[in-house]
Amino acid sequence: MKIICVGRNYADHAKELNNPVPKKPLLFMKPSTAILHKKRPFYYPDFSTNIHYEAELILKICRNGKCVEEKFAHKYYEEISVGLDLTARDIQAKCKEKGHPWEIAKAFDNSAVVGAFIPKDDWDPNNIQFSLKKNGTLAQQGDTKDLIFNFDYLIAYISRFFKLHVGDLIFTGTPAGVGPIEIGDQYEGFIGEQRLFNIEVK
Ligand code: ZN
Repeated sequence: MKIICVGRNYADHAKELNNPVPKKPLLFMKPSTAILHKKRPFYYPDFSTNIHYEAELILKICRNGKCVEEKFAHKYYEEISVGLDLTARDIQAKCKEKGHPWEIAKAFDNSAVVGAFIPKDDWDPNNIQFSLKKNGTLAQQGDTKDLIFNFDYLIAYISRFFKLHVGDLIFTGTPAGVGPIEIGDQYEGFIGEQRLFNIEVK
Protein backbone atom coordinates (compact mmCIF):
# COMPACT_ATOMS: atom_id res chain seq x y z
CA MET A 1 0.00 0.00 0.00
CA LYS A 2 0.98 3.60 -0.36
CA ILE A 3 0.10 6.87 1.31
CA ILE A 4 -0.55 9.87 -0.88
CA CYS A 5 -0.46 13.22 0.88
CA VAL A 6 -1.78 16.58 -0.21
CA GLY A 7 0.10 19.71 0.81
CA ARG A 8 -1.39 23.21 1.23
CA ASN A 9 -5.01 22.19 0.84
CA TYR A 10 -6.37 24.76 3.32
CA ALA A 11 -5.68 28.40 2.48
CA ASP A 12 -5.20 29.41 6.15
CA HIS A 13 -2.38 26.84 6.54
CA ALA A 14 -0.67 27.82 3.26
CA LYS A 15 -0.64 31.39 4.60
CA GLU A 16 0.79 30.50 8.02
CA LEU A 17 3.86 28.94 6.33
CA ASN A 18 4.11 31.80 3.80
CA ASN A 19 3.31 29.50 0.88
CA PRO A 20 1.19 30.53 -2.09
CA VAL A 21 -2.26 28.93 -2.42
CA PRO A 22 -1.75 26.26 -5.11
CA LYS A 23 -3.62 26.05 -8.42
CA LYS A 24 -3.18 22.25 -8.56
CA PRO A 25 -2.94 19.82 -5.63
CA LEU A 26 0.58 19.49 -4.28
CA LEU A 27 1.26 15.76 -3.86
CA PHE A 28 3.88 13.74 -2.06
CA MET A 29 4.01 10.18 -0.74
CA LYS A 30 4.93 8.21 2.31
CA PRO A 31 5.80 4.49 2.23
CA SER A 32 3.89 1.89 4.27
CA THR A 33 6.77 1.91 6.80
CA ALA A 34 5.74 5.45 7.75
CA ILE A 35 2.63 4.21 9.57
CA LEU A 36 2.89 4.43 13.33
CA HIS A 37 1.55 1.24 14.81
CA LYS A 38 -1.57 1.73 16.88
CA LYS A 39 -1.03 2.07 20.61
CA ARG A 40 2.71 2.61 20.20
CA PRO A 41 4.19 5.94 21.23
CA PHE A 42 6.03 8.14 18.75
CA TYR A 43 9.73 8.18 19.61
CA TYR A 44 11.31 11.52 18.76
CA PRO A 45 14.00 10.75 16.14
CA ASP A 46 17.56 12.03 16.47
CA PHE A 47 17.77 13.64 13.00
CA SER A 48 15.45 16.56 13.73
CA THR A 49 14.86 19.10 16.47
CA ASN A 50 11.69 20.59 15.01
CA ILE A 51 9.06 17.98 14.23
CA HIS A 52 5.60 19.45 13.66
CA TYR A 53 2.17 17.90 13.96
CA GLU A 54 -0.25 18.36 11.05
CA ALA A 55 -3.74 16.98 11.73
CA GLU A 56 -5.40 15.72 8.55
CA LEU A 57 -8.48 13.82 7.45
CA ILE A 58 -7.62 10.48 5.85
CA LEU A 59 -9.51 8.56 3.15
CA LYS A 60 -9.11 4.79 2.83
CA ILE A 61 -9.33 3.62 -0.78
CA CYS A 62 -11.76 0.70 -1.20
CA ARG A 63 -11.42 -0.16 -4.91
CA ASN A 64 -8.71 -0.10 -7.54
CA GLY A 65 -8.85 2.74 -10.01
CA LYS A 66 -6.92 4.61 -12.68
CA CYS A 67 -8.05 7.94 -14.13
CA VAL A 68 -11.18 7.95 -11.98
CA GLU A 69 -13.80 10.44 -13.11
CA GLU A 70 -14.66 13.03 -10.51
CA LYS A 71 -18.37 12.09 -10.61
CA PHE A 72 -17.50 8.49 -9.61
CA ALA A 73 -14.77 9.35 -7.11
CA HIS A 74 -17.06 9.03 -4.07
CA LYS A 75 -17.28 5.27 -4.76
CA TYR A 76 -13.56 4.86 -4.16
CA TYR A 77 -13.61 5.41 -0.39
CA GLU A 78 -16.04 4.20 2.24
CA GLU A 79 -14.14 4.97 5.43
CA ILE A 80 -12.48 8.07 6.82
CA SER A 81 -10.24 8.84 9.76
CA VAL A 82 -8.00 11.52 11.16
CA GLY A 83 -4.23 11.31 11.54
CA LEU A 84 -1.01 13.25 11.80
CA ASP A 85 1.37 14.01 8.96
CA LEU A 86 4.46 14.41 11.15
CA THR A 87 6.95 16.71 9.46
CA ALA A 88 10.58 17.46 10.26
CA ARG A 89 10.18 21.18 9.60
CA ASP A 90 13.91 21.93 9.98
CA ILE A 91 14.85 19.36 7.33
CA GLN A 92 11.95 20.39 5.10
CA ALA A 93 13.11 24.02 5.18
CA LYS A 94 16.57 22.96 3.97
CA CYS A 95 15.09 20.76 1.23
CA LYS A 96 12.84 23.59 0.03
CA GLU A 97 15.71 26.05 0.03
CA LYS A 98 17.76 23.77 -2.24
CA GLY A 99 14.82 22.58 -4.33
CA HIS A 100 15.42 19.02 -3.12
CA PRO A 101 12.77 16.32 -2.61
CA TRP A 102 11.00 16.24 0.76
CA GLU A 103 11.08 12.54 1.60
CA ILE A 104 13.50 12.66 4.51
CA ALA A 105 11.39 15.43 6.09
CA LYS A 106 7.99 13.84 5.46
CA ALA A 107 8.21 10.10 4.82
CA PHE A 108 10.42 8.84 7.64
CA ASP A 109 9.45 5.88 9.85
CA ASN A 110 6.38 6.49 12.03
CA SER A 111 5.66 9.87 10.41
CA ALA A 112 2.07 8.84 9.56
CA VAL A 113 -0.25 8.57 12.55
CA VAL A 114 -3.45 6.87 11.38
CA GLY A 115 -6.56 6.82 13.55
CA ALA A 116 -9.34 4.23 13.63
CA PHE A 117 -11.58 4.33 10.55
CA ILE A 118 -15.29 5.14 10.63
CA PRO A 119 -17.89 4.86 7.85
CA LYS A 120 -18.10 8.02 5.76
CA ASP A 121 -21.88 7.64 5.48
CA ASP A 122 -22.49 9.51 8.72
CA TRP A 123 -20.96 12.64 7.17
CA ASP A 124 -21.46 15.03 4.28
CA PRO A 125 -17.96 14.98 2.71
CA ASN A 126 -18.05 18.76 2.28
CA ASN A 127 -18.91 19.40 5.92
CA ILE A 128 -16.75 17.24 8.19
CA GLN A 129 -15.40 18.79 11.37
CA PHE A 130 -12.16 17.40 12.78
CA SER A 131 -9.78 18.49 15.50
CA LEU A 132 -6.58 17.79 17.35
CA LYS A 133 -6.02 18.13 21.06
CA LYS A 134 -2.51 18.58 22.40
CA ASN A 135 -2.20 17.70 26.09
CA GLY A 136 -5.97 18.05 26.42
CA THR A 137 -6.16 21.52 24.81
CA LEU A 138 -7.51 22.25 21.34
CA ALA A 139 -4.55 22.71 18.95
CA GLN A 140 -6.08 22.45 15.46
CA GLN A 141 -9.57 22.53 14.05
CA GLY A 142 -10.62 21.91 10.48
CA ASP A 143 -13.74 21.67 8.37
CA THR A 144 -13.80 20.14 4.90
CA LYS A 145 -15.94 23.03 3.66
CA ASP A 146 -12.65 24.99 3.69
CA LEU A 147 -10.74 22.53 1.47
CA ILE A 148 -9.19 24.10 -1.64
CA PHE A 149 -9.51 20.74 -3.47
CA ASN A 150 -12.32 18.50 -2.25
CA PHE A 151 -12.15 14.71 -1.90
CA ASP A 152 -13.67 13.89 -5.30
CA TYR A 153 -11.36 16.27 -7.11
CA LEU A 154 -8.35 14.85 -5.25
CA ILE A 155 -9.20 11.23 -6.13
CA ALA A 156 -9.66 12.14 -9.79
CA TYR A 157 -6.44 14.16 -9.89
CA ILE A 158 -4.27 11.68 -7.94
CA SER A 159 -5.44 8.68 -10.01
CA ARG A 160 -4.24 10.33 -13.23
CA PHE A 161 -0.69 9.90 -11.95
CA PHE A 162 -0.89 7.04 -9.46
CA LYS A 163 -3.14 4.02 -9.81
CA LEU A 164 -5.17 3.66 -6.65
CA HIS A 165 -5.20 0.29 -4.89
CA VAL A 166 -7.50 -1.04 -2.19
CA GLY A 167 -6.00 -0.04 1.15
CA ASP A 168 -4.13 3.04 -0.06
CA LEU A 169 -4.54 6.09 2.16
CA ILE A 170 -4.93 9.72 1.16
CA PHE A 171 -3.94 12.40 3.68
CA THR A 172 -6.00 15.37 2.57
CA GLY A 173 -4.05 18.30 4.02
CA THR A 174 -3.86 20.24 7.26
CA PRO A 175 -5.67 23.38 8.40
CA ALA A 176 -3.87 26.21 10.25
CA GLY A 177 -2.40 25.74 13.70
CA VAL A 178 0.52 23.37 13.05
CA GLY A 179 3.25 23.44 15.65
CA PRO A 180 6.21 21.61 17.19
CA ILE A 181 5.82 18.41 19.19
CA GLU A 182 7.76 17.79 22.36
CA ILE A 183 8.72 14.72 24.31
CA GLY A 184 5.98 14.04 26.86
CA ASP A 185 3.16 15.44 24.70
CA GLN A 186 -0.10 13.62 24.17
CA TYR A 187 -2.13 14.04 20.96
CA GLU A 188 -5.74 13.06 20.40
CA GLY A 189 -7.49 13.23 17.03
CA PHE A 190 -11.24 13.64 16.57
CA ILE A 191 -13.85 13.60 13.86
CA GLY A 192 -16.79 15.42 15.41
CA GLU A 193 -16.86 14.17 19.00
CA GLN A 194 -15.36 10.77 18.19
CA ARG A 195 -11.78 10.23 19.34
CA LEU A 196 -9.95 8.15 16.72
CA PHE A 197 -6.35 8.24 17.95
CA ASN A 198 -4.42 8.94 21.12
CA ILE A 199 -0.62 8.95 21.00
CA GLU A 200 2.20 9.94 23.26
CA VAL A 201 5.58 11.35 22.28
CA LYS A 202 8.58 9.73 23.97
ZN1 ZN B 1 0.46 17.59 5.65
